[in-house]
Amino acid sequence: MTSLRAVKGMNDVLPDEIARWHRVEATFAKTMALYGFREVRTPYVEPTSLFVRTMGEATDVVEKEMYSFVHHDEPLTLRPEGTAGAARAYVEHGVASREPVTRWYYVGPMFRAERPQRGRYRQFSQVGAEVFGDAGPAVDAEMIDMLVVFLETIGVRDARVLVNSMGGPGARARYKEALVRYLEPKKAGLSEDSQRRLATNPLRILDSKDPRDQEAVAGAPAITELLDAEDDAHWRGLTRHLAALGVRYEAAPRLVRGLDYYTRTLFEIKGATDKLGAGDTLVGGGRYDGMIADLGGPSVPAIGFAAGLERLILASDVEVAAPAVPVFVATLGDAAVAYGLPLAHELRRAGIACEVDARAGSLKSKLRRANTQGARVTLIVGDSEVEGGTVQLKDMGAQTQDKVARADVVAAVVSRLGAS
Ligand code: AMP
Repeated sequence: MTSLRAVKGMNDVLPDEIARWHRVEATFAKTMALYGFREVRTPYVEPTSLFVRTMGEATDVVEKEMYSFVHHDEPLTLRPEGTAGAARAYVEHGVASREPVTRWYYVGPMFRAERPQRGRYRQFSQVGAEVFGDAGPAVDAEMIDMLVVFLETIGVRDARVLVNSMGGPGARARYKEALVRYLEPKKAGLSEDSQRRLATNPLRILDSKDPRDQEAVAGAPAITELLDAEDDAHWRGLTRHLAALGVRYEAAPRLVRGLDYYTRTLFEIKGATDKLGAGDTLVGGGRYDGMIADLGGPSVPAIGFAAGLERLILASDVEVAAPAVPVFVATLGDAAVAYGLPLAHELRRAGIACEVDARAGSLKSKLRRANTQGARVTLIVGDSEVEGGTVQLKDMGAQTQDKVARADVVAAVVSRLGAS
């Protein structure tokens, strides 16, 4: 029989690595709370049409990366990103009629059938947030500042903040035209994909990783030169607020992002390539003022971002120690197991984590395991302890051992843990 393996591009996170995950997730939740965001949880599966409508048909994700299937005649898709689901939930539950501004965040797995490589997976986790009901630009700057604080807190150094404006639909249309006019004479030198995109979605050419395309777009016009007056005021407001907050950013006139729904503010935060390789984009975000109305909701402006947890963990410098189990109960024989289990139960009720080793085996092997678990105290129970109503309390650091009466064990452990 061939051995069973995880699906390509979908990874296990084993307990040795989980402390790093918990740390980043906890810091994210704490940062979100500081900025007034509340958690939302939406399903992992949504109607396929939700993603086609919000992300756009001619995007890489919708064209070739979605895990879609039909179940009882219903086309469904494993969510490739979190914004569409959050926006759907916001509309479906009529949230706009209850609160003028909504700040939501989410954490969870996303699915894209991409070519797996370092930092790029087929199942990956994102943390992300959305603000509905505030047209910015102050909230845009606040969101970027919040991300910078978050990245600093988890020990991501050398992050670069890139900011651009996509303008509104008018500027975007003008820009598409200007870009096509600029690229048409260079068409033969573009990658095959980009020659096709010139007709379907020319903005995506700016995003291409192909060196031929990158060379062709190097001198392309900047969308910020084609903004209308309101878009321009928004863009200038954003840069002013970022400066007031002391956020170091780079204006990136050719930054566009893979999804169709963005309007005005667009940003990316990149990490150090030595750690992340080609997948150096840690965070992607932007404004999507048209989406809520497109989904049948009221006309409500919105902005959001998403960051890949795996990449944040790769980029984070902080070492996290695996949590140890402080107390180990080593039982020797059947009677000792029956005596040791309620003892462990009592310790846990007192909030003390402990592991019981009820296997047959020598004391030596059990003490070895207590050491690898990082136990500071081992309670040894054999037949004579059961008969005498005691335990042997071994302090693993001081290498001392004392006989303690059964009734005093919890207090003795508490004092020993507090002292060392
Ligand atoms: P996007 O939803 O494409 O804007 O991506 C936002 C962030 O999610 C990226 O900056 C990455 O950190 C992360 N991300 C996107 N796709 C993947 C993937 N296939 N594997 C791992 N992380 C990803």
